[in-house]
Amino acid sequence: MGSTFNLGKLFGIRFRLHFSWFVIFILVTVSLVDPDYSQWFYWVIGIITSLLFFASVVAHELAHSLVGRANGVPIESITLFIFGGVAQMTKEATRPGAELKMAAAGPACSLLIGGFFGLIFLVMRNIIGPAAVMIFWLAVMNVTLAAFNLIPGFPLDGGRVFRALLWRFTGNYGRSTRIATRVGQGVGYLFIVGGIAIIILHPFGLSWFDGIWLVFIGWFLGSIASASYRQLRRQEPLDSFTTLEATTPERR
Ligand SMILES: [Zn+2]
Repeated sequence: MGSTFNLGKLFGIRFRLHFSWFVIFILVTVSLVDPDYSQWFYWVIGIITSLLFFASVVAHELAHSLVGRANGVPIESITLFIFGGVAQMTKEATRPGAELKMAAAGPACSLLIGGFFGLIFLVMRNIIGPAAVMIFWLAVMNVTLAAFNLIPGFPLDGGRVFRALLWRFTGNYGRSTRIATRVGQGVGYLFIVGGIAIIILHPFGLSWFDGIWLVFIGWFLGSIASASYRQLRRQEPLDSFTTLEATTPERR
């Protein structure tokens, strides 16, 4: 995972922070404050919003970990990095039901948090003034986090849900994982093709920048799916599998 530093333990799970996190933290904060750089007040709200988003990612990972642990999948540590988090399991789920619950817990948690911020925005937007934009952003980001991770490509949460369902119906763990990683690679290629189409055609008012993000996400999805597939082919111990998370940095 490269350079990380230790944040301490929560619920007996060690939390590590990847150094790339600082880069995204600064980028997110600056984009939130934009274009009111001169007002210190916006910087304060921007930093608090970035920290709340970080707390949302931690909650998503904790939801996976605590549901996993309750279903017999021990979690040793969680590394938080530029695109979310990675939970290191000491072993994979041994039953499809456990995998299904554990994989679904993260997106469910993000949807709840997104709904919570959405509700605050609807009820209080006239009272909280400039903070309303940030609360709305938190609602959108949490729903995006849930939606992105529900893409049915292994090893994203949606791919794990998909594998658990295949596993339940076929009873074949290896074949289910192969199909889920293949679908993950396919989804990655679709994103890349879609991104290139946006760069060239600019449909729906989308810019070349949106296209580049889509290509980047597609490349990311394809490479994590390929890595999982290679891992399976080498038949490495299953304990090195990880839950990968990702989200698209949302522009305002
Ligand atoms: Zn997740």
